[in-house]
Amino acid sequence: MPLVLATWDKPGEVAVAAAAKKVMSGGSVLDALESGLTAAEDDPDLVAIGRGSHPNSDGELELDASVMVGSDLRAGAVCALRGILPAIRVARWVMERTPHVMLAGDQARRFAIEQGLRPQNLMTPTAIKAYERWLTEPDRVEDYVHSVHDTVTMLGREDDGRLFAASSTSGWSFKKPGRVGDSPIVGAGIYADDETGAAGATGWGEELWKACASYRATNLISQGLAPQEACQAVIDHMVRRQPASTARQCVVLALGKDGRFGAAVNKGVFHLWVWNGVTTERIEVVPKTG
Ligand code: ASP
Repeated sequence: MPLVLATWDKPGEVAVAAAAKKVMSGGSVLDALESGLTAAEDDPDLVAIGRGSHPNSDGELELDASVMVGSDLRAGAVCALRGILPAIRVARWVMERTPHVMLAGDQARRFAIEQGLRPQNLMTPTAIKAYERWLTEPDRVEDYVHSVHDTVTMLGREDDGRLFAASSTSGWSFKKPGRVGDSPIVGAGIYADDETGAAGATGWGEELWKACASYRATNLISQGLAPQEACQAVIDHMVRRQPASTARQCVVLALGKDGRFGAAVNKGVFHLWVWNGVTTERIEVVPKTG
C-alpha cells in the first residue's frame, strides 16, 4: 500500500486528504505530494503556506518549496518566490525541466511564468490585516512567529518502496526579506534516498538547517536505527550541540524503505497526518521525557 505523511494539524489534514484523493484516482505518490502541497498552498484560510499566509517584513509573501525523489536523488527547489502558486509545482519543474536543483527569487518567478504560471497577488484581506497589526506592534514579532507554523512537509512511499519527500512554506511570519529557511534545502528540510529512507523537518528553520536534520535522520537509518529512533537521535543531537534550538519548536519526521515511520519534537505538541492507502490517522507527537 502507498503511504503518505504530512505535518501540522490543519494544513496537514488538507494536504493528506488531497494526496489520498490523487492516489485513489490513479496518481503516483510523487503526484500526490504535489497535489497535497498545492491544495494547502491554495487554501486562503490556512495561515501556513501559499495564499493568505503571513508575509515578510515588507508585506510580501516569499515562498520556499522543494521535492526529492529517492530512487536517483533527483531534487528541485525554489526559494524567495513571489506572487506564484503553487510553489511546489515550480520546484518540481526545476527538477524535471532544468539541469539545476534550485532557482531563487525573481529568476524563479521568471522561470515559473515562462513555464506557464501566471503571477498573482497572494495576500488575502486577513493576511493584510495581520501585517498591518504587526506593523503597529513589531515588538510582538516573537508572539506571531511562535503562534503560526508556516510549513507543510510531506513524505511518501510507493507500494514498491520508492520514497519521496517534499515541502512548501512561507517561512517565518514577518521574516527579513530574502530570508530562506530549511524547507527548500536538500538535506535540511527534506531528503529521500531509497537505500535508506526519507525524512523531513519543520519548525525553526535556521537550527534545523545547521543540523542538516533530514540528511542526518536518513544517515542514522542507514546505520540501523528505526525511523522513530533516528528522529529522536536528531532532536537529541540538536539539544546537545545547538542548545539554543530548544527556544523554539523543531520537528523531524522520517519514513523507512520498509514503511516504518516516526517523528520527534523538541518541545510542545506536534500533529502528524498519516494516510496508509486505506485510512487516515492523526498522530500526536510529544517530546521525549526522561
Ligand atoms: N521551517 C520553516 C522555516 O523556518 C518554518 C516552519 O516549519 O514552521 O522556514
